[in-house]
Amino acid sequence: MLGQMQSQPLLISNLIVHAERHHAGTEIVSRRVEGDIHRTNWGQVAQRSRRIANALDALKLGFGERVATLAWNGYRHLELYFGVSGSGRVLHTLNPRLHPEQLVWIVNHADDRAICFDMTFLPLVQAVWRKCTGVKHWIALCDADKLPADSGIDGLQSYEAWIGGQSDTYTWPEFDENCASSMCYTSGTTGNPKGAVYSHRSTLLHAYGAALPDALGCSARDAILPVVPMFHVNAWGLPYSAAAVGCKLVFPGGALDGKSVYELIENEQVTMAAGVPTVWQMLLGHLQQNGLKFSTLKRTVIGGSACPPAMITAFNDQYGVEVLHAWGMTEMSPLGTVCTLKNAQVALPPEEKLQVRLKQGRTVFGVDMKIVDEAGNEQPWDGKSYGDLLVRGPWIIASYFKGEGGDPLRYDAAGRGWFPTGDVATIDADGFMQITDRSKDVIKSGGEWISSIDVENIAMAHPAVAMAACIGMRHPKWDERPIVVVVKKPGAEVTRDELLKFYDGKIAKWQVPDDVVFVDAIPLGATGKMQKMTLRQQLKDYVLPGL
Ligand code: ADP
Repeated sequence: MLGQMQSQPLLISNLIVHAERHHAGTEIVSRRVEGDIHRTNWGQVAQRSRRIANALDALKLGFGERVATLAWNGYRHLELYFGVSGSGRVLHTLNPRLHPEQLVWIVNHADDRAICFDMTFLPLVQAVWRKCTGVKHWIALCDADKLPADSGIDGLQSYEAWIGGQSDTYTWPEFDENCASSMCYTSGTTGNPKGAVYSHRSTLLHAYGAALPDALGCSARDAILPVVPMFHVNAWGLPYSAAAVGCKLVFPGGALDGKSVYELIENEQVTMAAGVPTVWQMLLGHLQQNGLKFSTLKRTVIGGSACPPAMITAFNDQYGVEVLHAWGMTEMSPLGTVCTLKNAQVALPPEEKLQVRLKQGRTVFGVDMKIVDEAGNEQPWDGKSYGDLLVRGPWIIASYFKGEGGDPLRYDAAGRGWFPTGDVATIDADGFMQITDRSKDVIKSGGEWISSIDVENIAMAHPAVAMAACIGMRHPKWDERPIVVVVKKPGAEVTRDELLKFYDGKIAKWQVPDDVVFVDAIPLGATGKMQKMTLRQQLKDYVLPGL
């Protein structure tokens, strides 16, 4: 017997129709690359996304063709999220921090037909446009009068002129919810990047899941600031969840420094912000240096890399802001787990509560996870046993674009496919998962594993340390030994011996790093993560003490 409910495909256009119908007047505020603050609302965004759909029809772009963006977080980017996907084309968000050659490779691999870019990236586009052979349309996200006359880019047009001439009447097409809606390439730290292709169905289910109270907890009463970029994994899906709940959105543009982010939070009465630890480091630095407080910010989602305990404590104890530690990846749309407490943890003493908050958290309904040993045997959920973390669910990748890399899944006895995340983790009896490492960053010393995240977190808790990366160095007896590479806070001092002493009693003796290397900066990748491979190359001549 079949269910007898209406069968309606889950489409991204439903989100914008809903947002316009129920939340038309709710504000969308953006700091533009021009520097000013721009105000619009869900009603306007919906109207302009329909103009985009008409403009794409006028360009004769077919169903499923790729329209790429090279843009910061802002209202125009938001309009493209809905206009491109809603009309059946695929939104391909490009990461402008990638090396230009890599960007060209990705554009060509994805067969992008049009690219919409912020004026900040004009020099980048000028450098690469001739090599992007399949791209027929270049659109600058600016007013017609801001378009440079001599850009050198054939056929370049301004976004406002492009959509301005179009009608805002458009009927969103209805199609199979499994059709592709958007795509994003992994950063490709090893080998070429691979494309994750999201569907309308996966995006909508993710939008529901992410908005749940024990996930990101989005509501119509929120003002959400996604500092996490819309050019990488759809800003953790926040634009979609925001449309579903009808909250205010606040976009930082390209100004991610502590002062600019703080001003936006205060002026726009932001209640929730989301970003990677490096961005929050800048924000906390600005607050501390200027003796500032938050007046409306209630919670902040931190993910993308492990959140250091010192950051959780600072937000919580000094500023009364709840930290939601979250974990996910490009291949997971991206949300996998969020660390929201259960009743049993709420009652814990502060120190124990912090230990829970440090974990990456519980799965959002829709994601299933397990940890396995090398032979694929499932490991117990005891908070101690660790293994490769595997996931499955309706917003988790089944295969990469163009089948790149073959079948990525591992199959269990029942024939169900699990995606290996490349992370090594523990899971406790309450279902809280904790990442100990990327599998490629795990340090193996004398047959035992040392968690580089644990070593980094302790260093980061030292008041003089701004950033720390723990890497393994070859050792003839132990195979590998950890060292910690440290960037000091401006004006702060700490010696090698003082920092090593700081590990006393916090970690087993054999896990304490053998050395501290002070550097001016730790290389960060295109998504703000520490690039340990580059760091290892930089330290290729380094020799462990005593060798
Ligand atoms: P890439 O751009 O390299 O594909 P993603 O943005 O997909 O990377 O990031 C995925 C990886 O980032 C995860 O597999 C994990 O290693 C790391 N990561 C994400 N969130 C966290 C977190 N909260 N704690 C620790 N590591 C995290």
